[in-house]
This record gives sequence, structure tokens and C-alpha cells, in this order.
Amino acid sequence: MYPFSFTKVSNTRDALNAGRRGGRYIAGGTTLVDLMRETVERPGTLVDISDLPLHGITVTERGSLRIGSLVTMTEAAADTRVRTIFPVISQALELSASAQLRNMATIGGNIMQRTRCTYFRDVTAACNKREPGSGCAALEGVNRSHAILSASDDCVATHPSDAAVAFAALDASVHLLGPDGQRKVPFSDFLLRPGSTPNREQALRRDELITAVEIPAHPRPLKSGYLKVGDRQSYEFALTSAAVALHVRGGVIREAKVAAGGVGTVPWKLPAVERHLIGERPSDTLWAAAAEQAADGARPLEHNRFKVELLKRTVERQLRIVGGSR
Ligand code: SF4
Repeated sequence: MYPFSFTKVSNTRDALNAGRRGGRYIAGGTTLVDLMRETVERPGTLVDISDLPLHGITVTERGSLRIGSLVTMTEAAADTRVRTIFPVISQALELSASAQLRNMATIGGNIMQRTRCTYFRDVTAACNKREPGSGCAALEGVNRSHAILSASDDCVATHPSDAAVAFAALDASVHLLGPDGQRKVPFSDFLLRPGSTPNREQALRRDELITAVEIPAHPRPLKSGYLKVGDRQSYEFALTSAAVALHVRGGVIREAKVAAGGVGTVPWKLPAVERHLIGERPSDTLWAAAAEQAADGARPLEHNRFKVELLKRTVERQLRIVGGSR
């Protein structure tokens, strides 16, 4: 470790002031403290925001679900409204990390967590995300766990959050508070693709706070679920994953929400799969045909070609689990 200062705030005004002066927000600390130990991150000032009033889960008048950014992963996964309305979120959270980490980590921190690319965490390796312009060791190195979709010539790291895949599938938004007031950013615009600036990961200004994640109301009944495929069943990041939500009425799929994890530099929405499903009757044949389009546009690397087929099978299997086998 190295010297840094630490301050705790109890209201959003003080938090924003501290952020404007260059302080880094910390709550659960499950990502940032690790990275500080490894000297990957070296913030001069930590601002503890865990006392801010951002701990609630509410259902709004419009029927959307709003999860405060300081709600822990455990609290969100166990909440009856989350479990009932959007089981895909509960399942994604419960399949993440360990029980101890889920007790500490917050929803805001979860979507802000940084990549598990081993070269990013090795300060002796070239990494454009950690040190812009230094190169990308993963391109010629071991890239089995890296992205096959939305990568650039400068970075091929995947986003590690499972919950973010569920949020992306459900077209969630992120609520932000800054000196100029509040704003709401669609989840698909909040996490940034690497392009030529992989060090910029979120559409979040330095002095802004995440206050909540909001999932819009969807027609009911909505059946949903999350499937994660990894090298181990627990405490492992996804090689592939699929978040699926389906609204079926009169025997026809009226709404389909599908996203994949472990394959993109950001949670990867699958609009071609969604379009293939809408207006059709559920069947095993349909699930297989829709999933064929899950890896459209994939550009695999030397060690992760297996992800193309694995992604299709993961999506097909989760469509069958949520939509039924027939
Ligand atoms: Fe760094 Fe991204 Fe390359 Fe990993 S993939 S070494 S995070 S630039």
C-alpha cells in the first residue's frame, strides 16, 4: 500500500464537493481496495459514501423498479420485489462472487467494477486500460477469457459483472447526480466500449455519483432467468452467460429481452435474437434458430474461439429454461 487520505461524508452535497476535489468514492470497497493493494489504482483521497441515503429499493408509480446504488448485492438478491418481478436480477447477483463479497459489495460498485484481465492487474504488463498508449499484452498473450464481441485493437477485456448483463437485457437506466443536478443514462450508454480509449469505461463524470439503477416496467407475466457458464460453478467469472426475459400471451411471444455476458467488452444485448423470437410460438426449434444469431459479428482471438459455439448453446439453453421445452 501507499499513503492516501480518507474522509467520510454523510450527505450528497459534501460527497459531490469531495468528488470535485478529486476524491474517489468508496462504499463496499471490494474492487477498489484490491486494486490499491496491487498498486493498479493509486487514489490520493478516498471518500466513504456508505452513509448516504441511497439504500432503498422502491417500485415507482409507473411500475418500474428502482434499486439504490448503496443497496448491497445480498439485499437486492433477497428483496421480494426483485425476486418476484425480475428473478433474472436475483439469479445474476446470487451467481456472482462469494456470500461474503455480496454482503459488502453494492449495486453501484458492481456495475463500476473493473475488468478481471490478468494483464490489467499485473503492473509489469502492457495495458492500455491501466496505462494509455502502453499496448495490450492480451492480444498476443493468453486470451482465453477475453472478448469476442465489441473489442477494439486497443483492448479486448470483458466486463465482469453478472448483474450488469441482467440490467442490459431489461433496458435499465442509471441515475446520476452531479453539480448540475440529476440525469438518467440508458444502461446501454453507461458502460463504454473500449475503442481507442479503453481507460474510459463509463459515461460518468468525475464529480458525479450513481444514485440508483432503474428497471422499467415490462408487461406481465414476464418470465426471466440467468444462466452462467464458467470453469467452476461458484466464485468464478463467466466464460459465457445469458440473461433472458420473455412475455408470452395467447401462446405467442410478445416481448423478448436477451443479453449475454463474458463475451463482450460490455454486457452484450442481442437484438437479432430478440427480433427472431417476437411474434413466434415458443418451441425448441425456435430457441435453436434464434440462438444461432447470438454470436453474429464475433471476432474470436487465438485462445477463445470456443466461445462462439458456447455462446450460442448458452443462449439456446437459457431460452429453453425460461420459455419451456416443447
Ligand atoms: Fe489491458 Fe484491455 Fe489489453 Fe487486458 S485486454 S491487457 S485490460 S488493454
